[in-house]
Amino acid sequence: MTAARQASQDLVVAKQAAESAESRTREILETERTRQSEAKLLGHLDEWLQSCKSLKELFAIVTCFMPKLLPGSKGEIYVYSNSRDALDGMCNWNTVDLHDSISADSCWALRRGRSYEYEEGGLCVECEHVATHRHEVSVPEYICIPIIALGDTVGLLHIRFDRIAAESAHMTKSTKFAVRCGEHISMAIANVKLRDELHEKSVRDPLTGLFNRRYLVEALRREINASEIRGPGHGLVSFDIDHFKTFNDNHGHDAGDVVLRTLGAKITDCLGERDIACRLGGEEFAILMPGADIESAEAFAQKLRNSTHKVSVRYGETVLPKITISAGVTAYPEGGTRPQSLMQCVDKALYSAKAKGRDCVVRTDQLEGGGVAPE
Ligand code: GH3
Ligand code: MG
Ligand code: MG
Repeated sequence: MTAARQASQDLVVAKQAAESAESRTREILETERTRQSEAKLLGHLDEWLQSCKSLKELFAIVTCFMPKLLPGSKGEIYVYSNSRDALDGMCNWNTVDLHDSISADSCWALRRGRSYEYEEGGLCVECEHVATHRHEVSVPEYICIPIIALGDTVGLLHIRFDRIAAESAHMTKSTKFAVRCGEHISMAIANVKLRDELHEKSVRDPLTGLFNRRYLVEALRREINASEIRGPGHGLVSFDIDHFKTFNDNHGHDAGDVVLRTLGAKITDCLGERDIACRLGGEEFAILMPGADIESAEAFAQKLRNSTHKVSVRYGETVLPKITISAGVTAYPEGGTRPQSLMQCVDKALYSAKAKGRDCVVRTDQLEGGGVAPE
């Protein structure tokens, strides 16, 4: 009798052990399935992020992926403005709440330099940027993840969790996974930024900060294509400082550099919103004026020539003598329909301005034969 009871008790214990082992196995399998599905989704995300050419494209992809990666989540991405005094709202998913900008001080993650998780009933304080656009009475659970690219904090990934929606989507809230998503997005932002910086360096003149000749050719090609589709044309001004060799010989190369830098800033001041200013090399510059005809390009060249007369440059204790410029002006399509032909054409007008005695502007349609270079 006792042996029979013992056997029955053993059976119950064994059954319980078997059930608990089965439930543990199910849990492990479920966790493994979730891990595999998360890894697959992250792999997909990476594949897309790696082919992004711009931050705009990157944010569009993040907006599309996040609801799938973290079902039942809402979120926003902010990126530091160039002046770094605030972060601008870049994209959001499953929500309309996106601040135009937030201050770094309004987020505990940015202030503490690491991810910040807010949990109801936990020992935590709500971030100000969350409080200012919260419509519900209770604070939703959320996580703020600093976006770090190449060692620099460049932005903030903010994710709010709706537990009920997440559970109905058979996904548990996973802050760890959210942090992993943040890391992958950070890496992609770092790559795009690095590519942008390299491209920026390759198209800028380091002395004046203006674009270089390579960029002008790119921009001319772009403008010609755009003009062919929607018209109108564009103006092109090319100018060169007069007797700059003598200026350098008299005052030194460093003083010459200060003049080039000051002239670069003056050109930038005079530019219209769409105009593109380039230093072609040495003391030669060009301005591409989308939408401008030859008359308005000439008016701009005259304005620049006149304002150069007023440029006063201090170099150490001395005020350097004033410089003058000579300019050539042409326009698309009358001056040429390819970048090289437009540049050759405008050069002819510039040489003519030099030949006429310098400190003047010549238009290609004032040259003999119209100055048009063979295509
Ligand atoms: P022109 O009126 O005919 O243009 O005469 P110019 O002396 O300006 O022309 P030239 O082409 O003979 O000389 C250009 C001079 O520009 C030569 C060089 O001393 C100066 N130059 C070129 N690049 C730089 C630069 O980066 N910095 C400085 N300081 N001078 C430069
Ligand atoms: Mg010169
Ligand atoms: Mg020159």
